[in-house]
Amino acid sequence: MSSATVTVSSRGVERIFSGHPWIYRSDMSGPVEVEAGAVVSVQDRRRRYLGQALYSSKSQIALRFLTREKTPFDRAFLTQRIQAAADYRSQVVKDSEAYRMVAAEGDLLPSLIIDRYGDYFVVQTLSQGMEKLKTVITEILREQFSPRGILERNDVAVRSLEGLEQTKGVLAGEAVNEVVVTMNGLRFAFNLLEGQKTGGFLDQRENQRAAKGYAYGRALDCFTYAGGFAVTLSARCESMLGIDSSEEALRMAQRNADLNNLSNIEWKQANCFDFLKAADQSGGRFDTIVLDPPAFARQRSNLDSALRGYKELNLRAMKILNPGGYLITCSCSYHVTESDFLSAIASAAVDAHRTVTVVERRTQSRDHPILLTVPETHYLKCLILRVL
Ligand code: SAH
Repeated sequence: MSSATVTVSSRGVERIFSGHPWIYRSDMSGPVEVEAGAVVSVQDRRRRYLGQALYSSKSQIALRFLTREKTPFDRAFLTQRIQAAADYRSQVVKDSEAYRMVAAEGDLLPSLIIDRYGDYFVVQTLSQGMEKLKTVITEILREQFSPRGILERNDVAVRSLEGLEQTKGVLAGEAVNEVVVTMNGLRFAFNLLEGQKTGGFLDQRENQRAAKGYAYGRALDCFTYAGGFAVTLSARCESMLGIDSSEEALRMAQRNADLNNLSNIEWKQANCFDFLKAADQSGGRFDTIVLDPPAFARQRSNLDSALRGYKELNLRAMKILNPGGYLITCSCSYHVTESDFLSAIASAAVDAHRTVTVVERRTQSRDHPILLTVPETHYLKCLILRVL
């Protein structure tokens, strides 16, 4: 698949040597006359070989490294990378048929996401290069895993940075919308074509399982989506209230409660900020609260307002927790570091006049690998706190 050669500046070389797979357009040397999305050989100004990368003609990220080796990045190479990713999942994923099988940079397959929901795969190709490889990837998945269906959820905004259109649908096999699979030993329905992301928030799977170990009493799951935390925790709780602003999400949540014969969960369509404020004023109290809001800082420029948002949300939750209660609080904003997040929570604790212990400091599930030299691959923070 590799043909043309491109040259990078010394700053680009430094970046590759530091272990980061992205080269920005400003670190390319000289004009580039390469087909959009091609696999290219990369060299430095002295023509020393650096590796092979996907080239983008549109994005600020001009090159995404695939390998530093000389072995051609062909179908066999791609198959081996996908298989290696799948093998790792068989080591770390337990009691779940839904998981991220290929997590882009985290599996050395930049801009490629493959989520597995039982017999179905959902693929996202988020750069020109991966888009070009989509047919080959589909063939490899059929050959290696014989799924019933392969879908694409390429209806994601980042694709516009690559000049790619928004699209979703079936790539191979059966068309399906809802699939029911096991996750953490429970049954969950996922809408692969209509749900958020590729159907579910698979990165929270291990945090849901961990949180289950602490949950008790009257529980509240804010930003519940399809009830991931609420359904997982409810067997340990007297009652569970799941809140989301989306009616469609709550329909799925009810479906998930029914699939597991859970009768102690109620769902409420509301804005979580408003709900928490009203609960504080009316004296509503809980023993377990989960906060899993959408990313507040999608760009670095939103950092300050995001931190204010996290503080406010956590402050309100702390005020309505009974002594000894658990707060499971998350941030999926990459731009908010764990230390920023801890500071915002600490400040909330001070204002709420509560003493808080950190029981667990967690991150995304292990099927979303974190590359030590690629900070962007560590985005989810999940703290399990005990509020005295
Ligand atoms: N906890 C879920 C994932 C949550 S995703 C899980 O584990 O699967 C974030 C959810 O927050 C989305 O379902 C979105 O509809 C909802 N949401 C966004 N803003 C909201 C708000 N202000 N109040 C209530 N829900 C909100």
